[in-house]
Amino acid sequence: MGMEVAPLSTPENKLTAIVTLAAAVDGVDIVVGAHEGLVYSVEAPNPDMQPYAEELASLSAGYVETVTSRALAGKASVILASHRDKSLLVADIGEGYTVAILGEPGAISALLAPVRRIVEGKPLQCPKCGALLEVFTQTCPRCGRRVPFGVASCPFCGADLSIRTCPNCGTRLRLVEERLEPVEAEAAKEAAAAPRPEQEKAVAAEAPRLPLGIGLGAATLGAVIYFLAAAIFKFPMGEAAVAGALPIAVSYALAVAKSK
Ligand SMILES: [Zn+2]
Ligand SMILES: [Zn+2]
Repeated sequence: MGMEVAPLSTPENKLTAIVTLAAAVDGVDIVVGAHEGLVYSVEAPNPDMQPYAEELASLSAGYVETVTSRALAGKASVILASHRDKSLLVADIGEGYTVAILGEPGAISALLAPVRRIVEGKPLQCPKCGALLEVFTQTCPRCGRRVPFGVASCPFCGADLSIRTCPNCGTRLRLVEERLEPVEAEAAKEAAAAPRPEQEKAVAAEAPRLPLGIGLGAATLGAVIYFLAAAIFKFPMGEAAVAGALPIAVSYALAVAKSK
């Protein structure tokens, strides 16, 4: 008897799934769900960050609006930016819902792929029992920190985490591309040799989308993230105005275009 697969058809359900996942990952300071810039839900593993919830909600909504209108022409869904020792992930879930996740860079970058899969409605599921696995975490056997279930290596120490066990049915699973496959099935597939044509096609079609907007959007994103960081961490805003765009454009990590 497996657990029910949580439907991810509504923005509220996606928001709940993202908040559940992110709040359980080590190194995350605060997770703020927002609707139209107003706080919808807050999880603050680091209580020191709790007072910044409203600021993060309104600024992340403006952040998404800036990015979608100027840099990515409406295609941005998940954005990751870094400043000094903190990173911020902002997800545009649709219908006015956003999620902002602030924390240490390793934790935040590890959340990028799982959050994107949830936003796109294509979460990792167990191929045996159908359980929605994206909201689970796993504990790194080398460094002991909790990381998202759907990462192939530990973002903190680099340990190989490609084999994991379904917490619902106990099947051993391997992360292959963006899907989980039973370990036995994977071995059989390797014996079958050559990749299928449609798989090659899918990879080839996806590749050009990734760098989209980085050149165009980096300065804008840099300025926005800098002001956001300045507001939260009390950096002097004069310094932000002068030095904002350049250093953050360099540290700005990745913008992932929505598939469609
Ligand atoms: Zn580790
Ligand atoms: Zn399972």
